[in-house]
Amino acid sequence: MEVQKIKLEPIRKTIREQTGKLRVAAYCRVSTDTEDQKTSFDGQVKHYTGLIEGNPEWELAGIFADEGITGTSAAKRPEFQRMVKECEEGKIDLILTKSISRFARNTLECLTFVRHLNNLGVHIVFESNNIDTRTAFSEMLLTVLAAFAQEESRSISENTSWGIRKRFEDGVTRWSRLYGYEKTADGEYQIVPEHAAVVQKIFELYEHGESIQSIRKYLAAHGIKSPTGEPKWTDSAVHTLLINERYTGDIILQKFLTEDHLSHKSIKNDSTEVPSYYIENHHAAIIPRKQYDRCMKIMGMRRVNGHRKEHDTGTCNQYPLGDKLRCPYCGSVLYQRAVPVQLKHKKGWVCEKGDDACHGFIIRSNIVETALLEAYKKLEAGKIAEKVNSLRFGADAKLALEIRKAHPVMKSVDFWWVDDLIDHIEFGAHSRTDREYRRLAALGEDVVDDRTMKVFWKCGLITTVMSGVDADREHPPMIAELYNSYLERQKEAQKEKEAETA
Ligand SMILES: [Zn+2]
Repeated sequence: MEVQKIKLEPIRKTIREQTGKLRVAAYCRVSTDTEDQKTSFDGQVKHYTGLIEGNPEWELAGIFADEGITGTSAAKRPEFQRMVKECEEGKIDLILTKSISRFARNTLECLTFVRHLNNLGVHIVFESNNIDTRTAFSEMLLTVLAAFAQEESRSISENTSWGIRKRFEDGVTRWSRLYGYEKTADGEYQIVPEHAAVVQKIFELYEHGESIQSIRKYLAAHGIKSPTGEPKWTDSAVHTLLINERYTGDIILQKFLTEDHLSHKSIKNDSTEVPSYYIENHHAAIIPRKQYDRCMKIMGMRRVNGHRKEHDTGTCNQYPLGDKLRCPYCGSVLYQRAVPVQLKHKKGWVCEKGDDACHGFIIRSNIVETALLEAYKKLEAGKIAEKVNSLRFGADAKLALEIRKAHPVMKSVDFWWVDDLIDHIEFGAHSRTDREYRRLAALGEDVVDDRTMKVFWKCGLITTVMSGVDADREHPPMIAELYNSYLERQKEAQKEKEAETA
């Protein structure tokens, strides 16, 4: 095995041996122009000044500092250039610097300058790499050193993202533009009242059942300019605004992260490697959390089947009663469906199970809504007040009182109050026709309960009202029968169609 011979240069005599004092300079650099690193830049200057002046054998030959320049070549670092020039003029014996990556941008540059300065009799101390070019200097060391530089160039990229990550963990974030806010001198979010009012209006309209399209029209009709200053809003601008969680004062950090040190591309953070952070109360809220959540819930319900499909047999929009209604037979959540069977109002709530045990329970949507408005009327403020001190229902009771006070009568079933007030709704069996009722009533049996709707309020109260179903015309089992035969016919028609095309 051949042993490679490495020619070691003799350790040079230091200038100190000739003049007594070593003229020491320091070189500092910061690679990213953020406030934090600016501080560390000032810190570096202070550190080196103290270090050099504190050593009786040293003489300060200058602090050279390139500020706020990201990974730039030496040619673009004026202070570095000036320092090299002073070395060439014989004014400096030793340079202190934090690390190779701060000193040079890449392998080649590092090698070039270390060699050049070495030839001039100037040595370099890389503090964090623990390398002093005075103690041992060879091509071999330089090669190792250069490899370090390559490696560190990567690690500095990782350090930068780590630094950002750290600031995210500490709740410090970079400012990014958001309609409704402006940036203060300190980089904080500050509410712009005029824009914030627009944001609040948009959420309010959405929460009260307006569609994105109608909100867009409302904004145009009121001459409200878009976030980008256009005279008209787009649907997507309204949608984007509605789904922005930052209006609640909370923030999700690190949605995007820097991919690598070479490309510096941003990629979406899918949270498999680097965590996202959710910070509550990061800045002043424009929209209460609850209102925001509700709007998201509405959006979810609309998305289930937002398109007009009322003559279809698919599910209708679940909005505004959502998942509040329960099947009287099996307790399952009812779904709103288009029920095109002898009904003026075509939406009905259907038990998805729809098997014999459930008697195919169906109830017209408008009947449910009318009954619910009636139930709201019967919800007494005095009764709610009794629950205010309850451990379990206190908070909901307080809210219910507020709503009751502000709205003695509700004119329509809206998601906002349904969601605030109602836990769930149950129905009586609705199993008998009017003839059966009359027969049973004649026998003195209590049959009233059969056609009831029971509202379970979140404040712990229960209100029972008559559902208003006319058993002769529309009692659920009868409608279910018609509905099912309709579905059968549809299926048959579909089969025939498929057979034709096949
Ligand atoms: Zn059922």
